[in-house]
Amino acid sequence: MENADQLKEYREKRHFDRTSELGGTTRQGDSGSNSSPRFVIQKHQARNLHYDFRLEIDGVLKSWAVPKGPSTNPGVKRLAMMVEDHPLDYVDFEGTIPEHEYGAGTVMVWDTGHFRNLKDKPFAEAIHDGQLEVWLEGKKLQGGYALVRMGDIVDHRWLLVKMRDEDADAQRDPEASQPESALTGRTLEEIAAEASHAE
Ligand code: MN
Repeated sequence: MENADQLKEYREKRHFDRTSELGGTTRQGDSGSNSSPRFVIQKHQARNLHYDFRLEIDGVLKSWAVPKGPSTNPGVKRLAMMVEDHPLDYVDFEGTIPEHEYGAGTVMVWDTGHFRNLKDKPFAEAIHDGQLEVWLEGKKLQGGYALVRMGDIVDHRWLLVKMRDEDADAQRDPEASQPESALTGRTLEEIAAEASHAE
Protein backbone atom coordinates (compact mmCIF):
# COMPACT_ATOMS: atom_id res chain seq x y z
CA MET A 1 0.00 0.00 0.00
CA GLU A 2 1.10 3.55 -0.67
CA ASN A 3 1.57 6.21 1.99
CA ALA A 4 -1.33 7.38 4.12
CA ASP A 5 -1.97 10.57 2.15
CA GLN A 6 -2.24 9.66 -1.50
CA LEU A 7 -3.88 13.00 -2.30
CA LYS A 8 -1.13 15.23 -0.85
CA GLU A 9 0.15 16.26 -4.29
CA TYR A 10 -3.41 16.90 -5.52
CA ARG A 11 -4.15 19.21 -2.59
CA GLU A 12 -0.82 21.03 -2.68
CA LYS A 13 -1.48 22.14 -6.26
CA ARG A 14 -4.88 23.70 -5.53
CA HIS A 15 -6.51 26.56 -3.56
CA PHE A 16 -9.88 25.23 -2.42
CA ASP A 17 -11.17 28.68 -1.52
CA ARG A 18 -10.86 29.60 -5.21
CA THR A 19 -11.66 26.47 -7.21
CA SER A 20 -14.89 24.49 -7.19
CA GLU A 21 -12.92 21.25 -7.42
CA LEU A 22 -13.18 19.05 -4.35
CA GLY A 23 -10.59 18.71 -1.60
CA GLY A 24 -11.34 15.06 -1.37
CA THR A 25 -10.69 12.22 0.96
CA THR A 26 -9.60 8.71 0.17
CA ARG A 27 -11.81 5.80 1.08
CA GLN A 28 -9.49 3.19 2.42
CA GLY A 29 -10.69 -0.34 2.07
CA ASP A 30 -13.03 0.38 -0.83
CA SER A 31 -10.92 -1.34 -3.39
CA GLY A 32 -11.20 -4.83 -2.02
CA SER A 33 -14.96 -4.78 -1.67
CA ASN A 34 -15.81 -2.63 -4.68
CA SER A 35 -16.45 -5.05 -7.52
CA SER A 36 -17.71 -2.34 -9.85
CA PRO A 37 -15.33 0.63 -9.77
CA ARG A 38 -15.98 3.71 -11.89
CA PHE A 39 -13.93 5.42 -14.55
CA VAL A 40 -14.17 8.85 -16.08
CA ILE A 41 -12.65 10.53 -19.11
CA GLN A 42 -12.74 14.29 -18.64
CA LYS A 43 -12.28 16.57 -21.61
CA HIS A 44 -10.22 19.45 -20.25
CA GLN A 45 -9.76 22.70 -22.09
CA ALA A 46 -6.73 24.00 -20.22
CA ARG A 47 -3.79 25.72 -21.94
CA ASN A 48 -4.00 22.75 -24.30
CA LEU A 49 -7.07 20.60 -24.87
CA HIS A 50 -6.55 17.10 -23.49
CA TYR A 51 -8.48 14.20 -22.02
CA ASP A 52 -7.95 13.05 -18.42
CA PHE A 53 -8.43 9.31 -18.04
CA ARG A 54 -9.17 8.30 -14.44
CA LEU A 55 -9.73 4.87 -12.91
CA GLU A 56 -11.07 4.22 -9.41
CA ILE A 57 -8.34 2.13 -7.80
CA ASP A 58 -7.59 1.69 -4.10
CA GLY A 59 -9.79 4.57 -2.93
CA VAL A 60 -8.54 7.23 -5.35
CA LEU A 61 -8.74 8.05 -9.04
CA LYS A 62 -5.51 6.96 -10.70
CA SER A 63 -5.07 9.52 -13.46
CA TRP A 64 -3.44 9.96 -16.87
CA ALA A 65 -3.53 13.03 -19.12
CA VAL A 66 -4.07 11.90 -22.71
CA PRO A 67 -3.28 14.78 -25.12
CA LYS A 68 -5.11 13.29 -28.11
CA GLY A 69 -7.76 11.32 -26.21
CA PRO A 70 -8.38 7.59 -26.37
CA SER A 71 -8.72 5.93 -29.78
CA THR A 72 -11.05 3.06 -30.71
CA ASN A 73 -8.46 1.94 -33.28
CA PRO A 74 -6.19 -0.83 -31.91
CA GLY A 75 -3.50 0.28 -34.36
CA VAL A 76 -3.17 3.66 -32.64
CA LYS A 77 -1.07 4.22 -29.50
CA ARG A 78 -1.95 7.34 -27.52
CA LEU A 79 0.51 8.97 -25.13
CA ALA A 80 -0.90 9.04 -21.57
CA MET A 81 1.06 10.97 -18.94
CA MET A 82 0.50 9.68 -15.42
CA VAL A 83 -0.46 12.57 -13.15
CA GLU A 84 -1.33 12.91 -9.46
CA ASP A 85 -4.11 10.80 -7.92
CA HIS A 86 -7.47 12.59 -7.71
CA PRO A 87 -10.20 12.16 -5.07
CA LEU A 88 -13.05 9.79 -5.91
CA ASP A 89 -15.56 12.67 -5.86
CA TYR A 90 -13.80 14.10 -8.92
CA VAL A 91 -15.43 11.34 -11.00
CA ASP A 92 -18.40 13.59 -11.81
CA PHE A 93 -16.73 17.00 -11.67
CA GLU A 94 -17.83 19.18 -14.57
CA GLY A 95 -17.26 22.93 -14.51
CA THR A 96 -14.66 25.62 -14.73
CA ILE A 97 -11.38 25.92 -12.82
CA PRO A 98 -10.70 29.65 -12.41
CA GLU A 99 -7.87 31.50 -14.13
CA HIS A 100 -4.50 31.37 -12.34
CA GLU A 101 -5.51 28.13 -10.59
CA TYR A 102 -3.82 24.80 -11.35
CA GLY A 103 -5.45 23.29 -14.47
CA ALA A 104 -7.38 26.52 -15.17
CA GLY A 105 -10.03 25.98 -17.82
CA THR A 106 -13.19 24.01 -18.51
CA VAL A 107 -13.75 20.38 -17.53
CA MET A 108 -16.40 18.10 -19.13
CA VAL A 109 -17.31 14.53 -18.21
CA TRP A 110 -16.79 13.23 -21.74
CA ASP A 111 -17.36 9.58 -20.85
CA THR A 112 -18.02 7.64 -17.68
CA GLY A 113 -19.16 4.24 -16.47
CA HIS A 114 -17.84 1.18 -14.73
CA PHE A 115 -14.77 -0.86 -15.52
CA ARG A 116 -13.12 -4.11 -14.48
CA ASN A 117 -9.67 -5.56 -14.31
CA LEU A 118 -8.85 -7.96 -17.17
CA LYS A 119 -5.76 -9.27 -15.42
CA ASP A 120 -5.50 -11.70 -12.53
CA LYS A 121 -3.10 -9.51 -10.59
CA PRO A 122 -4.47 -6.68 -8.41
CA PHE A 123 -4.45 -3.17 -9.87
CA ALA A 124 -1.79 -1.88 -7.46
CA GLU A 125 0.58 -4.60 -8.64
CA ALA A 126 -0.30 -4.03 -12.30
CA ILE A 127 0.44 -0.31 -11.96
CA HIS A 128 3.72 -1.07 -10.23
CA ASP A 129 4.60 -3.36 -13.14
CA GLY A 130 3.43 -0.78 -15.70
CA GLN A 131 0.94 -3.13 -17.39
CA LEU A 132 -2.80 -2.51 -16.96
CA GLU A 133 -5.66 -4.05 -18.91
CA VAL A 134 -9.19 -2.84 -18.21
CA TRP A 135 -12.64 -3.48 -19.66
CA LEU A 136 -14.64 -0.26 -19.97
CA GLU A 137 -18.43 -0.07 -19.86
CA GLY A 138 -18.84 3.59 -20.77
CA LYS A 139 -21.44 5.52 -22.68
CA LYS A 140 -19.03 6.13 -25.57
CA LEU A 141 -16.16 3.72 -25.02
CA GLN A 142 -16.51 0.02 -24.41
CA GLY A 143 -14.23 -2.98 -24.36
CA GLY A 144 -10.61 -3.60 -23.52
CA TYR A 145 -7.97 -0.90 -23.16
CA ALA A 146 -4.33 -1.50 -22.28
CA LEU A 147 -2.11 0.99 -20.48
CA VAL A 148 1.57 0.25 -20.77
CA ARG A 149 4.32 2.27 -19.09
CA MET A 150 7.06 3.23 -21.54
CA GLY A 151 9.97 3.04 -19.11
CA ASP A 152 10.80 2.06 -15.54
CA ILE A 153 8.82 2.90 -12.40
CA VAL A 154 9.77 6.61 -12.36
CA ASP A 155 8.69 7.13 -15.97
CA HIS A 156 5.36 9.00 -16.18
CA ARG A 157 4.89 8.22 -19.87
CA TRP A 158 2.40 5.47 -20.64
CA LEU A 159 0.67 4.39 -23.83
CA LEU A 160 -3.09 3.90 -24.01
CA VAL A 161 -4.14 1.40 -26.67
CA LYS A 162 -7.50 -0.14 -27.64
CA MET A 163 -7.33 -3.93 -27.37
CA ARG A 164 -8.47 -6.09 -30.28
CA ASP A 165 -12.02 -7.11 -29.46
CA GLU A 166 -15.55 -6.63 -30.81
CA ASP A 167 -15.54 -2.98 -29.71
CA ALA A 168 -12.40 -2.10 -31.67
CA ASP A 169 -13.19 0.17 -34.62
CA ALA A 170 -10.55 1.79 -36.80
CA GLN A 171 -13.12 4.11 -38.45
CA ARG A 172 -14.89 5.47 -35.38
CA ASP A 173 -13.77 8.86 -34.09
CA PRO A 174 -15.84 9.48 -30.94
CA GLU A 175 -13.97 12.68 -29.98
CA ALA A 176 -15.29 14.22 -33.20
CA SER A 177 -18.68 12.50 -33.53
CA GLN A 178 -19.68 12.59 -29.84
CA PRO A 179 -18.08 15.76 -28.43
CA GLU A 180 -20.74 16.52 -25.77
CA SER A 181 -20.82 15.70 -22.06
CA ALA A 182 -21.89 12.15 -21.19
CA LEU A 183 -23.39 13.59 -17.99
CA THR A 184 -25.28 16.71 -19.12
CA GLY A 185 -25.13 16.74 -22.93
CA ARG A 186 -23.42 20.14 -22.84
CA THR A 187 -20.58 21.29 -25.06
CA LEU A 188 -17.37 22.75 -23.58
CA GLU A 189 -18.58 26.21 -24.68
CA GLU A 190 -21.90 25.76 -22.84
CA ILE A 191 -20.15 24.63 -19.65
CA ALA A 192 -17.78 27.61 -19.83
CA ALA A 193 -20.63 30.04 -20.49
CA GLU A 194 -22.69 28.77 -17.55
CA ALA A 195 -19.71 29.11 -15.25
CA SER A 196 -19.14 32.75 -16.20
CA HIS A 197 -22.86 33.56 -15.75
CA ALA A 198 -22.81 32.05 -12.26
CA GLU A 199 -20.22 34.55 -11.02
MN1 MN B 1 -6.31 17.91 -17.05
